[in-house]
Amino acid sequence: MNLISKKKGEKNVQDEKLNPLSSLKASEKRYVSDKILNNLGIKKEQTLSAMKKFIEDEIKKLQSMSQRAQSMAYFDDIARYFGTRAEEVAKFKDAGGHVVGSLCMFVPNEIIAASGALPLRLGSGFHETAGPANVILGDAGLCPLVKSTLGMRMAACSPYFEMCDLLVAPTPCDAKLKLGEILQDFVPVLMLNLPRIKSGAVNRRQWAEEIGILMDKLELLTGKKIKRKDMKVSIEKYQRAYSAYRELMNIRREADVLWGRDALLVAQLSYYDDIERWTQNVHKLVAELKQMKEEGKTIISDEAPRIMLAGSPIIWPNWKIPDIIEESDALIVADELCSATRALSNPVVVDENTKRGMIDAVIERYLFPCTCPCFSPNLERDDNLLNRIRDYKVQGVIFHVLKGCHLNALDATRIKGILEEEGIPMFTIESEYVMGDYQQIKLRLEAFLEMVRAQIDII
Ligand code: SF4
Ligand code: SF4
Repeated sequence: MNLISKKKGEKNVQDEKLNPLSSLKASEKRYVSDKILNNLGIKKEQTLSAMKKFIEDEIKKLQSMSQRAQSMAYFDDIARYFGTRAEEVAKFKDAGGHVVGSLCMFVPNEIIAASGALPLRLGSGFHETAGPANVILGDAGLCPLVKSTLGMRMAACSPYFEMCDLLVAPTPCDAKLKLGEILQDFVPVLMLNLPRIKSGAVNRRQWAEEIGILMDKLELLTGKKIKRKDMKVSIEKYQRAYSAYRELMNIRREADVLWGRDALLVAQLSYYDDIERWTQNVHKLVAELKQMKEEGKTIISDEAPRIMLAGSPIIWPNWKIPDIIEESDALIVADELCSATRALSNPVVVDENTKRGMIDAVIERYLFPCTCPCFSPNLERDDNLLNRIRDYKVQGVIFHVLKGCHLNALDATRIKGILEEEGIPMFTIESEYVMGDYQQIKLRLEAFLEMVRAQIDII
């Protein structure tokens, strides 16, 4: 029996449930009515100025790192979030452009860009915006990434969110599922039903259908058919970006010339920067780092523990964990975060240059290589971690779990056992976005790093 076949003229079930190109009327809002918003009395200006201060303080911290590459100045500018880039996106919108936001790494940028719309990834790292969302989410124990992202929209504090014509929300975990649902009270949302088990033809077919719906909605939004040539241009543009990032990782593997915090920042700014300009600037950074390597410059003593950062996403400007690690005389030499290297690995590989062939390549790329803990069984994550540990000569792993992120908390226990068998110490650290636990986390991380140093001395 074919369970997904439709009767002639029958609409797609998702189309029945949602109309993702038009906003809900006030009476249709289910979670955040105008009355609730008004009663909250959110102080937008105060929130905005706290957010701007948070960014500036963090940029100052990064700028004070020793021997920092000068080419990072470009990325600092984009990292200001409210500045240059927000103005560019506003101009794009004023000229009739469409902006499509996404909430996770499962949304194919290549397809959004091929439609002529601008893709932006919108997860928030601001602790200032988590407050308003608590009123709606209550004691559900959802992770701070979701609270902060919802609060950001409730407080109308993100220029990018405000400019979104459509938000694409995959459903990898309960928190993201509900976030997408609640955000429909603010912006047209297309939910992408992500299969949690990758194997099997039905799951692949379901995912292909979801991507097909996304393409239809984008064509409706932009009024333009996505052509073979558009797909080709767009895929190649992102392939160049991935290749530039790979070069950055290569130089990082060869010499200690880039702070881990900078590597995370570069990766993450690909979320909302102009991707071609971002690629050019990654090349400039790589050239400078190669020069530093040739001149024998390093940013830190070669006795510093070589750390890999893994676990829940870490979203700019909340650099609390990376700051603590590197301020404790250790170097983050690699990561496996979906908010950094994982998002820029595995470019789309096209076997057949037809439009269908390219769409199939995108469908595969955004499902199969992903090692997000939302998948079961996800053995690829273990292999991926072990390979990276060997490649980057990692001496200790810090596994970060955002409070409420059950998927990563579960993986942490399992992965610790696997790494211990390989003689790699791992430390799991649970955190919120707030800064109140800074000193407590610092003390615990320093103790772990001492242990890693002792182990290096023995070897
Ligand atoms: S861990 Fe998985 S579900 Fe969570 S943000 Fe990353 S990719 Fe998305
Ligand atoms: S951090 Fe964890 S709980 Fe939060 S959205 Fe990502 S996978 Fe879901």
